[in-house]
Amino acid sequence: AIPLVVAISTSVSAQNGLLIRNRTAFEESRKITALLFDKTGTLTRGNFGVTRLESVDPAYTSKELLRLASALEQSSEHPIAVGIMRKVKEDEIDVPKPENFHAITGKGVEAIVEGKEVKVVSPGYLRDANITLPEAASGDAAETIVFVLVEGKLAGYIALADEIRPESKEAIAVFKRNNIKVLMATGDNEKTAKAVSDHLGLDGYYAEVLPHQKVEIVKELQSKNEFVAMTGDGVNDAPALAQADVGIAVGSGTDVAAETADIILVNSNPQDIANLILFGKATYRKMI
Ligand code: ADP
Ligand code: MG
Repeated sequence: AIPLVVAISTSVSAQNGLLIRNRTAFEESRKITALLFDKTGTLTRGNFGVTRLESVDPAYTSKELLRLASALEQSSEHPIAVGIMRKVKEDEIDVPKPENFHAITGKGVEAIVEGKEVKVVSPGYLRDANITLPEAASGDAAETIVFVLVEGKLAGYIALADEIRPESKEAIAVFKRNNIKVLMATGDNEKTAKAVSDHLGLDGYYAEVLPHQKVEIVKELQSKNEFVAMTGDGVNDAPALAQADVGIAVGSGTDVAAETADIILVNSNPQDIANLILFGKATYRKMI
């Protein structure tokens, strides 16, 4: 016989864009006391559009910045890269071929383009490298800014904007009513993280988080007796998803994160997690 919980979890998941990989995860979802969300693509749409292209070094026009960046970003799957490549296509820019492309974990990408070392990186990378940020590049709170470095020198920057999902606010209201702490961990900058957190009324946030630090955040919450669910995408999130009491992979479900997770959130919609928790609680009450 199929255990009741499995039967219910299969039907709740079919209706709600959830793929349940670990049969106890559904039952455990009613015990969640803290939810640690990633930002991009879950609380926000993850659909970045380029809002500004600013040259800092007059040797580079804004079009040239975009051309250099495109050489790197064509090989990246990050939502920022997708946003930049959309603009590259619109502007009909010829994308150069990079050599030695690689990701700088949690900070950006780099490669050799036409014989020069080019990087597209986060504000945190600039700070670590002691490169002064131009005043205007602190951006408004809704902007995510990445910097284009050529041979280690700041050439300019690209500002992008994402949108908060309307469903996030409703989902968070449900979590709050159920006394679940809602937190966010993001690789994005402090200002943008705070703006999203304030807008959604989160209980807290962690900004400029490197992938390995997510495991520590989960452990710290667990040491405070929280029963932690965490959402994540990408290979880098796999260790933290494994550490969480309920690991929720976001998106398509073909990569390492999905293989480690208990649950896959097929439509990346936080409301589906709210439904899972409500359904889990209601079912448990009925069963006892
Ligand atoms: P998150 O998933 O929260 O965005 P990541 O670790 O993927 O966190 O990225 C952290 C930061 O590193 C981004 O906000 C961005 O500044 C920078 N970054 C990562 N990948 C890229 C990329 N392909 N191009 C430019 N910047 C990137
Ligand atoms: Mg990521």
